[in-house]
Parts: sequence; C-alpha cells; structure tokens
Amino acid sequence: MRCAHWRRVPLDLVRETREKSAAEYVDRALQCQLSVHDNGHHYGLLADIGECGTALWLRWRGTTEVEPVVLPDCPVAAPGHDGEGCCLFAGHTKQHTWEDALEEVSCIR
Ligand SMILES: [Zn+2]
Ligand SMILES: [Zn+2]
Repeated sequence: MRCAHWRRVPLDLVRETREKSAAEYVDRALQCQLSVHDNGHHYGLLADIGECGTALWLRWRGTTEVEPVVLPDCPVAAPGHDGEGCCLFAGHTKQHTWEDALEEVSCIR
C-alpha cells in the first residue's frame, strides 16, 4: 500500500521548480511515493530536472521540515525481460514501486 501522507508544496518552491525544470505544471500538493512506512521522511516527486537519471523530490517530515532534494533514479527494475522500472529514487526504503502489485502504481512521469 502506498503511504497516505500528503504535503502542500510551498508556493515559492512551485515557482522555483518551474524555472529549474521547465515543467509546465508542478503539482501544488504531493502524495508520498513510498510504500507505507512508520518513520522517516516522506518523498513526493516534484519534477524531472532535465538532467538524465535524476529528479527533484520534495522531502518532508512533520509539518515544519520540508525541503527539495535532487536524487538519482532508482536503478532497480523488475526481474524479467522488459522489467518495469522503479519510479522511486536510488536508496529508497521499502519496496520498489513495481513490487507493490496490490494497487495500481503508475509513474507520474
Ligand atoms: Zn510517506
Ligand atoms: Zn526502487
């Protein structure tokens, strides 16, 4: 199951992300992309930032701790020929998105 935590993206960060990534649309609120977890930070995907193999994530914990971080893509794909890629970042905790077969998981990008 996917983590049910949502975070509103600060306005200045939305603006900054638009400029940095040339993204036409940046979500104003993000749901954590990880599978359900008890502790640690939540991560929501803000945007691809053009550089190959990296993306801009919003990392938060509690209500005050929120910051943008650039992270490399998770390199682990599902086993098999045309294994589905993981939508998360390298070194994430919990399952890869393709392991979470109980619900429909789709990469935003
Ligand atoms: Zn979370
Ligand atoms: Zn992964």
